[in-house]
Amino acid sequence: MLYLHQFLKLSTSLFIALILVAPTAQAAKHVNVLLYHHVSADTPRSTSISPDEFAGHMAYLQEQGYQVIALGQALSLLQAGEEVPDKSVAITFDDAWRNIYTNGLPILEQYNYPFTVFVNTDPIDQNHRMAMTWDMLRDMKQRGGTLANHTTDHDYLVRKADYGSQWLADTLANIDKAQQRLEAETGATPKWLAYPYGEYNHTLKQALKERGYIAFGQHSGGIAHFSDWQALPRFPAAGMYSNLKTLKLKLASQPMPIDYNALPDPVIRLDQDHTNPPVLNVNMLTKEKKGVRDQLSCFILGSPQKPVWQDQQNWHISAEAPLPSERSRYNCTAPIWGQKNYYWMSHQWLVYEH
Ligand SMILES: [Zn+2]
Repeated sequence: MLYLHQFLKLSTSLFIALILVAPTAQAAKHVNVLLYHHVSADTPRSTSISPDEFAGHMAYLQEQGYQVIALGQALSLLQAGEEVPDKSVAITFDDAWRNIYTNGLPILEQYNYPFTVFVNTDPIDQNHRMAMTWDMLRDMKQRGGTLANHTTDHDYLVRKADYGSQWLADTLANIDKAQQRLEAETGATPKWLAYPYGEYNHTLKQALKERGYIAFGQHSGGIAHFSDWQALPRFPAAGMYSNLKTLKLKLASQPMPIDYNALPDPVIRLDQDHTNPPVLNVNMLTKEKKGVRDQLSCFILGSPQKPVWQDQQNWHISAEAPLPSERSRYNCTAPIWGQKNYYWMSHQWLVYEH
């Protein structure tokens, strides 16, 4: 028989137990990073967002309770295996266009949002009229901006004859020079590189890791502890990707829990007998339920395609026809069990012939 005081005691401990197991709603284990270039209505549409659209994105982030945090804060927490605030988002720009300063910065300041600009330093040194000046960049740094490395000349890093020691030395010298210019002109600069056009190979990635660089591509997805820290994804948010309807899904997505470090080298050399279309083999970090496996789907060159599961943890996907010379991506999503949101992953390929 259960007396009232025993019942009360029992229900109290149940209540406490429930509190203890309830997830902390204020923390997350990933950050989604947005990638912009121009903030202008007069520059090439594919890499531009108009000031009005950009203001719309920033307003949306605030309305929906996204926490715009400094990229450095997110990276150090996640790399250490710690949590970031729930709904964390970081804002980045590639190329130090002057319109980021004139059009983007005033909007960012309205919301007090931190942001990062990846700077290719040659146009600054050459006083290119469309690029920011060093004074503007220093000012930006005082007003919530972080500056990071986007090479000196924005050259293609892996569209070269071969990837031997001379190529590697030249490439690293380019990156080191940009780092030195940023530090000389603006002070302490984190060792973060955004690959021009998001193009890299495994040799470069490994060399950057040994030199203590974190590096970013232009393939979509979120960042978590298990990411490849020399090929971090970002969600392109300009041009055709600036539409809030599609951006909403991406902002709410989580990085697909896979072994990113095991993904293949993204460069497919047609002059070296590489297989085209390439096969993307993916290893999930845990076994996935049938419902998730059935609903995993990929998009390749605008067409949906079903991946093939070998077992509960491993799957692969390949385009139906050879990929065209240039960049293309395999984008894959799967539902998150028990949620309305999606896991997201993307791999960018470069099909290249020297
Ligand atoms: Zn760029």
